[in-house]
Amino acid sequence: MHDLNGKVALVTGAASGIGRAIAEAYAKAGARIAVADIAADKAGEAAKAMGSHAIGLAMDVTDEAQVDEGFARTARELGPVDILVSNAGIQIISPLVDLAFADWKRMLAIHLDGAFLTTRAAMRQMIDAGRGGSIILMGSAHSHVASKFKAPYVTAKHGLLGLARTIAKEGAAHGIRANVICPGFVRTPLVEKQIPEQAKELGISEDEVIRNVMLRDTVDGEFTTLEDIADTALFLAGFGSNALTGQSLLVSHGWHMQ
Ligand code: NAD
Repeated sequence: MHDLNGKVALVTGAASGIGRAIAEAYAKAGARIAVADIAADKAGEAAKAMGSHAIGLAMDVTDEAQVDEGFARTARELGPVDILVSNAGIQIISPLVDLAFADWKRMLAIHLDGAFLTTRAAMRQMIDAGRGGSIILMGSAHSHVASKFKAPYVTAKHGLLGLARTIAKEGAAHGIRANVICPGFVRTPLVEKQIPEQAKELGISEDEVIRNVMLRDTVDGEFTTLEDIADTALFLAGFGSNALTGQSLLVSHGWHMQ
């Protein structure tokens, strides 16, 4: 199930954190990889480190032309995409009443427009190639629960569940599966940045943010790791039938149980 030889995967936000860990795991499993990121230089460096079957793509997932061109280049250089991981994301911490409309729109654009544009491009290639495929959307425990000061993030991550379920229904006839991975807190740059921001908003120490906010509801007070998420993404990429589609998998040390 973990053999991805002959498969082509495109991972967005793959120059850093979770996306990079997934792309590396896929490369090790034998896939040809498109490392897509708005940070073009970092994407190129990451791809280089993954070997000769990886390419770096400059791709802002909110830009329709860049997404479509990135997929076209992937098809030309690596072959049509079999696996999409729509992972690019950012976080903006703010009380709802103080949140700028521009920040709300930016968050929804990256998390939702980005998932739509990359899914559409991937499905077109998968349908044309006639080999089916696996679409993985990076949700969050916040696809199922809410937290203060994260209104657009929580809204967007909940929205991805609806998108995955719709892809599952429309994709089934073509052997295209769609699932959402919902991680708990993983210590990536996205999370390191918000520890002091949350401490400031809540008026508590950074240690208290980690213990009493981020990890409070886990079963063991542990962070989720990059490897935990990469293993889950490997499992979903390699799963071979429509039996597992339209689902969300919480990988969060029991923070939320469904
Ligand atoms: P990260 O900051 O380490 O990496 C995010 C990457 O996305 C960066 O390389 C960044 O350049 C890229 N990116 C940002 N905007 C982009 C755009 N418009 N187009 C293309 N690329 C863009 O963050 P991470 O923690 O690895 O987060 C990856 C995903 O995992 C996000 O969707 C995030 O919401 C989700 N997630 C993270 C955690 C966590 O605890 N770290 C938990 C749950 C879900």
